[in-house]
Amino acid sequence: MSSPLPAAVVRSLREIVGRGHLITEPDRLVVYESDGLTAYRVPPRAVVLPASTEEVSRVVAVLHAANIAVIPRGAGTGLSGGALATAEGVVVGTARMNAILEIDASNRLARVQPGVINARLTEAAKPHGLYYAPDPSSQSTCTLGGNVAENSGGPHCLKYGVTSRYVTSLTVVLAHGRVVSLGGAGADPNASLDLVGLFVGSEGCFGIATEIEVRLLPIAEGVRTLLGIFDTMEAAGRAVTSIMGIGLLPAAMEIVDNATIRAVEASVFAAGYPIDAGAALIVEFDGTEAGLDADADRAEACCVQEGASAVQRAAEADHRAALWKGRKKAFGAMGRIAPDLLVQDATVPRTRLPEVLVRIAELGERYDLKIANVFHAGDGNLHPNILFDRLDLDELDRVERASKEIMALCVEVGGTITGEHGVGIDKRDYMPLVHGPEELAAMAAAKAVFDPDGLFNPDKVLPLRTQGTEPAAGAEA
Ligand SMILES: Cc1cc2nc3c(=O)[nH]c(=O)nc-3n(C[C@H](O)[C@H](O)[C@H](O)COP(=O)(O)OP(=O)(O)OC[C@H]3O[C@@H](n4cnc5c(N)ncnc54)[C@H](O)[C@@H]3O)c2cc1C
Repeated sequence: MSSPLPAAVVRSLREIVGRGHLITEPDRLVVYESDGLTAYRVPPRAVVLPASTEEVSRVVAVLHAANIAVIPRGAGTGLSGGALATAEGVVVGTARMNAILEIDASNRLARVQPGVINARLTEAAKPHGLYYAPDPSSQSTCTLGGNVAENSGGPHCLKYGVTSRYVTSLTVVLAHGRVVSLGGAGADPNASLDLVGLFVGSEGCFGIATEIEVRLLPIAEGVRTLLGIFDTMEAAGRAVTSIMGIGLLPAAMEIVDNATIRAVEASVFAAGYPIDAGAALIVEFDGTEAGLDADADRAEACCVQEGASAVQRAAEADHRAALWKGRKKAFGAMGRIAPDLLVQDATVPRTRLPEVLVRIAELGERYDLKIANVFHAGDGNLHPNILFDRLDLDELDRVERASKEIMALCVEVGGTITGEHGVGIDKRDYMPLVHGPEELAAMAAAKAVFDPDGLFNPDKVLPLRTQGTEPAAGAEA
């Protein structure tokens, strides 16, 4: 249970953002008690919703002067508990900072506030023949600020790369309200340290991004989408390896398994995938028209060679959207199966996909858990989705143990503990699986440069021992 904010702090915050943009009522704070990782819930002490860099700076100055931790928050779609509050912390949300400040079509750049929804930027760039490439599957909801903090990926990042490739400059509010500008599209990368590179992916632990400049890309001339239907996940996994193995580079390669297909087909999102299929593989190519059909032919041949029972192909937007539907609506459809969903995130070398998928299925059986797989197969980024009811404490315990084994398995085959959802609180204690004490200490030192008093998003990313805040033996919950 958190304590109320001191009256002087409440007065100062109201004066900065206006009475309506400071939330302290317990029934309204419930909305902010978790992010997309619903297994963890902590209501914050308060939520502040500033509207500009200046307001964020003043809010952070007031809170840090009172030694109160700040938890930055975008749309709260994060899946690693990154925006989870601490009981004594205050959430600073970017929901009101949602302006697209400039589309500079000639230089293919956009400048936005951090609360802009990812898909809105692409809509705004479309009349200029441009779009924003990183496309998390949550793109209709998640914010650019959250994308920057998580260095987010998405289906098309196989070909186009993740957020860090697109961010050219940032305005950032640091500890005690200091405002700094990092990078700049025209800046000579050799003339300065790459602080933008350091900030992107810092998961709200360094400061709050209040203005973001990103590169835009020209919309591709043509697109071809294939949907391959397979009897087994291994066969679909082999098709992925074989498509990449012959030198093709699709824009996206995504797999959904039978449990997911069944959930989607039983829901309002039904996409027409055969419900007895072991797996469906979406392969998409984009670029100049010349060559697209040839690439699609070669990918189709790989699918057939690996045992696809059917391959559909689409070139028109409506047909493409229909083929994608089963993938795009997968998470929503899973709400039919269980009240809670833990979307795990790990990467493995692509060639190990078939074997790892079999072992994850075995883990599901051993722990008596429903696990549905929907993932970015092209870059080996797995998302085993564990379905559960958090009110069933025994099941919750099995979810945690199975998650840990999945992480250990992915590391064992040469992968790592997150592909795109970040470490947050969920993976914090798995960090030593992939980083030694010296590497963790270097990360802690980098955080201290931006946040010397540890007042931004405490308890996240770095194990508590590395942060020097590990509770005494027996004191941990
Ligand atoms: C259905 C579904 C599908 C998803 N698919 C993908 C996917 O394909 N790829 C992918 O990468 N992720 C995916 N995600 C995860 C999530 O959407 C991304 O991590 C996204 O970037 C989070 O954005 P957000 O605005 O919701 O951030 P939040 O969840 O609010 O915050 C995420 C982190 O960013 C920090 N933060 C937020 N705003 C700022 C800011 N302005 N400055 C500094 N720190 C900040 C927070 O402190 C927190 O640590 C998915 C989530 C869901 C629910």
